[in-house]
Amino acid sequence: MTRRVFTGGQVLDGTGAPAAPADVAVQDGRVVEVGPGLDGDESVDCTGATLLPGLFDAHVHVMMSGVDTLRLLQTPFSYGFYEAVHNLRRTLALGITSVRDAGGADLGVAQAVRDGLIAGPRMQIAISMLSQTGGHGDGWHVCGSEMPLMGPHPGRPRTIVDGADEMRRTVRQLLRAGADVLKVATSGGVLSARDDPRHPHFRAAELDVLVEEAEAAGVAVMAHAQGAEGIKAAVRAGIRSIEHGIFLDDEAIDLMLQRGTWLVPTLAAPRAVLAAAAAGASLPVAVIEKARDVQAVHDASVAKAIAAGVKVAMGTDSGVGPHGDNLSELSLMADCGMTPEQAWHATTLSAAELLGVAGELGSLEPGKRADVVVLDGDPTDLTGLSGRIREVYRDGELVAAGGAVVEAGVIPPR
Ligand SMILES: [Zn+2]
Repeated sequence: MTRRVFTGGQVLDGTGAPAAPADVAVQDGRVVEVGPGLDGDESVDCTGATLLPGLFDAHVHVMMSGVDTLRLLQTPFSYGFYEAVHNLRRTLALGITSVRDAGGADLGVAQAVRDGLIAGPRMQIAISMLSQTGGHGDGWHVCGSEMPLMGPHPGRPRTIVDGADEMRRTVRQLLRAGADVLKVATSGGVLSARDDPRHPHFRAAELDVLVEEAEAAGVAVMAHAQGAEGIKAAVRAGIRSIEHGIFLDDEAIDLMLQRGTWLVPTLAAPRAVLAAAAAGASLPVAVIEKARDVQAVHDASVAKAIAAGVKVAMGTDSGVGPHGDNLSELSLMADCGMTPEQAWHATTLSAAELLGVAGELGSLEPGKRADVVVLDGDPTDLTGLSGRIREVYRDGELVAAGGAVVEAGVIPPR
C-alpha cells in the first residue's frame, strides 16, 4: 500500500494541455492524485524532468528487424522470436508501455509479455495482414519464389484472400489465433515489389465482410492505406484507422473527419526504407523507387490532415526501420505542423482512444493505471528524446531506467 510521489517536476498529462509544475502520487498501481505539494511514503525526485503518461506506438512490427531481403533469406525461422525479445525491450526502455503490433507478432509473443516471461510494452496484435492476391502482403516475386515479410506458420494464418467468403473465413482464423485487432491492406504499398501504392485493393463487398466480422468479435480494423481510393474505401467501410495515408485528398480528409477515423502517419517508414537502401540493404529496385517517390507526398498529405483536424495517433512502423528510434516520429509530426503538445497527445491519450484503452491508460489522471515516464528536460523540445528517458514505470513499478530495462522480478507475472 506504499504511496509513491513523483515530486519537483512538471506534468504533461496527455490530454493535450501544456505542461505545468505538479506532483503525481501513485498507489496500488494506479494514479491517485495529481497536483502541487503532494506527499507520500516514498518520493522520486523529478527535478528538471517532465512526467508523462506511458507512451504509445500504434504501429510497430516487433517480429521485423529491418527489410534487407538477402538478410531475411539467411535468417533462421526461430531467430526472429529472439530478435523480438530485444525489440520489445528497446521499445519499453523508451517509455512506450503500449504498442499495437501491425503484423508479425503472434499470440506466443504477446502472451510471453502478458505473463511477464519477457519484458515489453502492453501489446495488441494483428498477427498478419489481410491482403489480396498481388497486394501488399503477397510475397510473390517475378522469379516465381514467394518471400512474404510475415509468412504463415502455426500461429500465423495465411492471409492472402480474394472474395468475401475467403475474407470471412480468414478473419475468423485470425481471431481464433488471438488477434486483438485486424489489419488489412486496402492499397498497394512500398515494400511489396509487385503493386502500386496508388491502386485500391479489395472491393467494398470484401471490406464490408471484414468489418462485419470484426464488429461481431468486438475488435477494430486498421488499414494499410496509401492511395486516396483505398483510403476512402476503408473509411466508408467503417475501418477505425488509416495507416500511412500517403496520398490523402480533400475528399478522404472530409470523410475521415465525418467518420472520426484516425490517421497513423508512420512518417519514419519511407525514410527508414531509404536509409536501409543507402546503408547497402538488398531491396528490390521497385521498392527503393517507390520509397523515394512517396516521401514528399506523404509529408504534404499528413500536414494537410493535421491542419484539417483529423485525429492522429503516433505510429512508426518500427521493424521497417530499427526499433529504439520510435520517438523520432514526434519531431517528424511537428515538422508536419503539430505543436509539441499535439505530438505528445498523439503519442498518449489519442492513441489510447484509438486502441480502446483510454479508460485505463493514456493520461496522468486519478484512477488510471500508473504508467509513468520521467523525461529529462522540457517536453516542448522534441529533439533527442530517446536519450532523455530517465525512468519508465508500469502499473507503478519501475521497469526501465537510463535507456535499459530493469531486470529481476520487477515485471510481476499477471
Ligand atoms: Zn507496417
